Amino acid sequence: MKTPTTEDIGDYIAEAGKLAWEVPGLPDDTPLREINSVGIIGAGTMGGGIAMNFATAGIPVKIVDATQEGLDRGLKVVRGNYQRSSDKGRFPQDEVEARMNRFTGTLNISDLADCDLIIEAVFEDMDLKRKIFTELDSVMKKGAILATNTSALDINEIASMTKRPEDVIGLHFFSPANVMKLLEIVRAKHTADDVVATSMDLAKRINKIATLVGVCPGFVGNRILFARQKQANKLVYQGVMPWDVDAAFNAFGHKMGPFQMMDLAGLDIGWSKGAKTENPIRDALCELDRRGQKTQAGYYDYDANRTPVPSDITADIIRKETGAEPTTMSAEEIIEICIYPMINEGVKILEENKAQRPSDIDVVWLNGYGWPADKGGPMYYGDMVGAQAVLDRMVKLGKDDAEFEPAETLRGLANSGGSFIEIDTGGLKV
Ligand code: NAD
Repeated sequence: MKTPTTEDIGDYIAEAGKLAWEVPGLPDDTPLREINSVGIIGAGTMGGGIAMNFATAGIPVKIVDATQEGLDRGLKVVRGNYQRSSDKGRFPQDEVEARMNRFTGTLNISDLADCDLIIEAVFEDMDLKRKIFTELDSVMKKGAILATNTSALDINEIASMTKRPEDVIGLHFFSPANVMKLLEIVRAKHTADDVVATSMDLAKRINKIATLVGVCPGFVGNRILFARQKQANKLVYQGVMPWDVDAAFNAFGHKMGPFQMMDLAGLDIGWSKGAKTENPIRDALCELDRRGQKTQAGYYDYDANRTPVPSDITADIIRKETGAEPTTMSAEEIIEICIYPMINEGVKILEENKAQRPSDIDVVWLNGYGWPADKGGPMYYGDMVGAQAVLDRMVKLGKDDAEFEPAETLRGLANSGGSFIEIDTGGLKV
């Protein structure tokens, strides 16, 4: 195992952050579209947070929701967020009012017709997004950029609902969107150069760190997250307790492990009462109204200070659903089983040309998912442990689950002693 110094890692992260802004093949003199007004569709968790970025930067925002109640609730949350910042002394009360005055709420998408940029942030439901983009195509002025904040859906399919797929792009913000620095800019098959250039420029204006990625399920960040989550769930089905998995991640440097993160996000995402999903432990927790932090219980119990406490109820559910006796596993093995597949998935993303370069993957995980800075990012960490170690583990994991078979490039690196952060597959291809 190579042990880079703190200075090496700091230099790498700084360089990675600079490189992420570079888009080979996009001419420097690509004209930018003017963005002086933004429309947001959906005033929920993401829509409100996304809108705040623009209002804070002085750009007027029109925000639509399906119901007056949804709109009022969304704007109340926005005001509350600004008010709290002002109360902490970050800016004067006048500024709260100035920012709120940049908001116009409406229930009609057609009221957004003259906006320069639209960001859709309704429920993660393809039929709904198809409907919205069909409507946007009919009402929006020519030249407007039509963006979606989908977490994982096929943006090519969304773009195909319009007669102007060149204007469609993914702008994938992270929660809370007014706080998190990362913005994945998702270039779809027909997205025009000037739409990419304008989106990168806009990311700077609203103080984000952008990476340009391609369309695949979950794009770069969530696709790697899905691999990790699948592995973490498998461990629990073998009788390892969720808090032992999380403790290994916490020791690795993540503030939150996979189950702490699921409790925070809500276990009922993609679940409805009576549902029998591929994760019966989660289903059983939700049936007991243990839906995560918001119900003061999920995988963990929570006290009034939101401190997670290992739960006997969860342990009983795991025993009942898996038939496995509770077992222990070393933190080192938990990390290998959950994190090496992330490295392998990163390599597959590069092989499929869905990221521009390895360091962009690290930028995504450092800025969007709390990857510990002293481990550089999943690709950098691959070099810290070495390709052979990752390959050995993936060969074992791939025997039980084809999804985790080693990437060809990983085999190549192990053979040649090559480096993950130097993988060059020729950049992004759509
Ligand atoms: P949410 O449920 O909090 O908000 C969705 C909002 O859309 C609701 O206010 C709803 O009333 C509104 N809405 C539904 N149909 C509408 C319509 N026809 N017209 C106008 N408004 C409508 O959901 P969210 O968590 O904000 O997620 C929104 C999108 O962002 C999803 O695609 C999700 O995958 C994505 N996303 C979520 C997160 C996250 O952590 N929550 C992170 C990144 C991306």
